[in-house]
Amino acid sequence: MSLVVMKFGGTSVEDPAAIGRTAAIVAGRVALGKQPVVVVSAMAKVTDQLLRAAAAAAEGDRAGALAISSRLRVRHRETTAALVKDSAALLDLIDQEFDSLDEILRGLAAILELTPRISDLIVSYGERLSSRIVAAAFSELGIDAAHVDAREVVITDSNFQKAVPRDALIEQRAQTKLLPLTAQSKVPVMGGFIASNEAGITTTLGRGGSDFTGALIGGALAAEAIEIWTDVDGILTADPRVCPDALRVKIISFEEAAELAYFGAKVLHPATILPAVKKNIPVLVLNSRNAACEGTRITSLAPHCKSPFKSIAVKKKLSIIDVVASRMLMTHGYMKEIFTVFDKHKCAVDMVSTSEVSVSLTVDSNDNLPALAADLGQLADVKYEGKKALICLVGDDIRGKNGMAAQVFNAVRHINVRMISQGASEINMSFMIDEDDADEAVRSLHAAFFQDPDPAIFDVEARRSN
Ligand code: ASP
Ligand code: MG
Repeated sequence: MSLVVMKFGGTSVEDPAAIGRTAAIVAGRVALGKQPVVVVSAMAKVTDQLLRAAAAAAEGDRAGALAISSRLRVRHRETTAALVKDSAALLDLIDQEFDSLDEILRGLAAILELTPRISDLIVSYGERLSSRIVAAAFSELGIDAAHVDAREVVITDSNFQKAVPRDALIEQRAQTKLLPLTAQSKVPVMGGFIASNEAGITTTLGRGGSDFTGALIGGALAAEAIEIWTDVDGILTADPRVCPDALRVKIISFEEAAELAYFGAKVLHPATILPAVKKNIPVLVLNSRNAACEGTRITSLAPHCKSPFKSIAVKKKLSIIDVVASRMLMTHGYMKEIFTVFDKHKCAVDMVSTSEVSVSLTVDSNDNLPALAADLGQLADVKYEGKKALICLVGDDIRGKNGMAAQVFNAVRHINVRMISQGASEINMSFMIDEDDADEAVRSLHAAFFQDPDPAIFDVEARRSN
């Protein structure tokens, strides 16, 4: 049996039309003799709205929180009614779910304290509801679907909001809860992102965690492939809004894709990659609005490519912090002190570069920066500047190649570069510039490196037909 895990993101289940397209895609796989296991996100924007309702309730805005919930109730009910003919039972269930959500929001508005555990409980409604609706819609449309509560399969620790999966338990649960269904050729439909700890308390895998669920389930069932259905054609050589002649990357390694994900390419959650890599299961990124497109295939080994890079990613809204102290000269333990300050402010560092007397670090721009800078100021002279962007070029074929840096910086010689790093992974080169220069830098690099793309790796057909 060739089992495929098919994960559909929020935009693939955002309304009746999207759910209809998703059903057609799944039915197409079944027709090809595949056995799908389906993982769905919450309907688009629902997770954000649930978090807003939780925040409002925790600030005592009971009416505001309940108003958000009531709009969500209407949206889920209307979607159901549009897709399912005999919808009474499901509509009842949706009402029960929203009644219990409202109960929690009212309680929260009384106690005014939003704990990570309650946040996970509130946000879990998104996937709980979407998975029910999608399962019912599939059945209506002729797919033999069975809803599975993801919280009975994906078992994690109790690190709420970013729980760590317990692989062995997930494998066990997948075998006892999913395999009996697939053995009868039923299509299990479950929510992504949501999970529970061993005591059955709801947890989540962190924002964007549905991809992770897909990979965990794929790994647990030793699936033939994991398909991540989104609303783009796969991984591209650059952001097409910035670079209209960006090309689809047909095949890329896990390592390269992970690098891109860390640097802001929103296609995929980096952690997705791990459970799949461990078991050597290919991941496909596909477009539910353009199902005929073959997407991007992510495999454990990078195929050899004539162009040095596969893709250019950009991360904006960054700040650069320069820490300068002559004290640093010939002392040890200084870096540790600096990082302790970052740790205290829970500030994640993207890139670091040091010299004898200075350290430059890049971080996400956020409200903490003045406080962080003040604390660093106790150790050294500190300057920080916002509106920076990190440009990251990724490609396995730069490993051990001479002259790459020269080619890259020649392509952007008209742009002022503030900081440079070549990752230890040897497959990325990154540098920091002013945010205003970012689009121009991407276009120049794209023109320099994707002039004559390798047709084995890039979809050159699309460029010709455009
Ligand atoms: N619904 C969750 C989120 O928006 C998980 C996901 O869609 O991947 O973060
Ligand atoms: Mg996502």
